[in-house]
Amino acid sequence: MTYNADIQKKDRNFVHKDFQLSDWNTLEPYFVQLKNREITSKENLVQWLKDYSELQEVISEDVCWKQIRMTCDTENKQYEEDYTVFCMEIEPHIKPYADILNKKLIQSEHLKQLDSSTYALLIKNVENEILLFNEKNIPLQAELNILSQQYGTITGKMSVHIEGKDYTLQQAAKFLMQSNRALRKEVYLKINERRLKDKDSLNKLFDKLLSIRNQIALNAGFENYRDYKFQELRRYDYSVKECEAFHLAIKKYMTPLVEKIYELKKNQLQLNTLAPYDIDAEPEGQNPLEPFENGKELLEKSIQTFTQVRPFFGDCLKKMNELNHFDLESRKGKAPGGYNCPLAESGAPFIFMNAAGTADDVVTMMHEGGHAIHSFLCHQLELSAFKEYPMEMAELASMSMELFSMDMWNIFYPDSQKLKRAKLEELERVLSIFPWIATIDKFQHWLYTHPNHSIEERTNEWLTIYDEFAPKNISWENLENYKRSFMAKAITSF
Ligand SMILES: [Zn+2]
Repeated sequence: MTYNADIQKKDRNFVHKDFQLSDWNTLEPYFVQLKNREITSKENLVQWLKDYSELQEVISEDVCWKQIRMTCDTENKQYEEDYTVFCMEIEPHIKPYADILNKKLIQSEHLKQLDSSTYALLIKNVENEILLFNEKNIPLQAELNILSQQYGTITGKMSVHIEGKDYTLQQAAKFLMQSNRALRKEVYLKINERRLKDKDSLNKLFDKLLSIRNQIALNAGFENYRDYKFQELRRYDYSVKECEAFHLAIKKYMTPLVEKIYELKKNQLQLNTLAPYDIDAEPEGQNPLEPFENGKELLEKSIQTFTQVRPFFGDCLKKMNELNHFDLESRKGKAPGGYNCPLAESGAPFIFMNAAGTADDVVTMMHEGGHAIHSFLCHQLELSAFKEYPMEMAELASMSMELFSMDMWNIFYPDSQKLKRAKLEELERVLSIFPWIATIDKFQHWLYTHPNHSIEERTNEWLTIYDEFAPKNISWENLENYKRSFMAKAITSF
């Protein structure tokens, strides 16, 4: 099979070609049309599905752009306002119609005639949505969307002052790789003090989120938000029990492995005890890897790398570049993190990240690039519902790309010794991320099954779970307080 990265924006057949999402009044007629349309044959039903899918794509692309603009510039009031208008004034009207249309599909007498190998999962997902829907949750979900954005705004503002210059926290993390231990410690303290400064506002915000999330779960007939979320995330194939077994396995097998990695690190750095600010450090006389200088260079080298893995992969990134679908460099006012945002009509997705010139940034770019290829490959699928893979499947594409691309990293590291270091770091990262995953996951299970907890109880539980999975050969002497700053980081990620 040959693949073509030169995908075109989809033609519209149902929604008017000039239609732009601005308010509910101009959007509603499309929903009314779908609701009232008579379906008298299997062919009618297939066409109805296509038209509904097109409408979903138009809405989805518009909302994705609103989110992209907002995360690229969290200080722009207009972008925030545009997103708020969608969440508060448009989406609450869409949801009841979505429920009506879901029921119309399931109740259609022609449903049985649809080919089950193509439509079975779609039907299952629609039934799941019907199960989760509750009128009372509509305003709560709108509020939740707005509140979730405030996290990005609070953390996007964080910066620290080092050696006479301001740095975002992502940029500052670069200093933690330096061989100068005193500098590392100074930067570590500054970053974590800065995080702790917003601890109260983040805790308050999370309290609000928690209570709304819990209410949503109760309204939908679930015992707690964890169980609700399992259903919403379409985790049909595994349950809480498997998650708990996974946590145990990580504790038993992965944490000791990470301890071994840290032991090697400690010897390499010739230290008696390893502090949290030593983990990413380079030994004396060795500089941190510098795979690229700026976003432009990161992109050029990524295109070369992807092209060597497969020309089609390189073409996908080129196409995205042609369309200006990258915002790669870290700067103040940008939301933290990185993502690949699929754009349902355009087909070519958008990659957002906070690159500061590190080896980790290369990995992030490979990762998001893996998501991007997945988006390109799914674009040709007929219905938007066919493209809704669960996150487990999404991460398979991205994490595989991190590893697939490793053999071509000589583009970033022409020096063979440096290449070896970069590969080793990546393989170590693949292992050392497990305890963190277990920490976050177990903490979430606790948060949502104990909805009435106090901030103090939350902090204590965080510290207990953190210690349960963390490698034991890290010395927290005089630094215990900073374990709390990770909680702020943890609750921002969900
Ligand atoms: Zn990912």
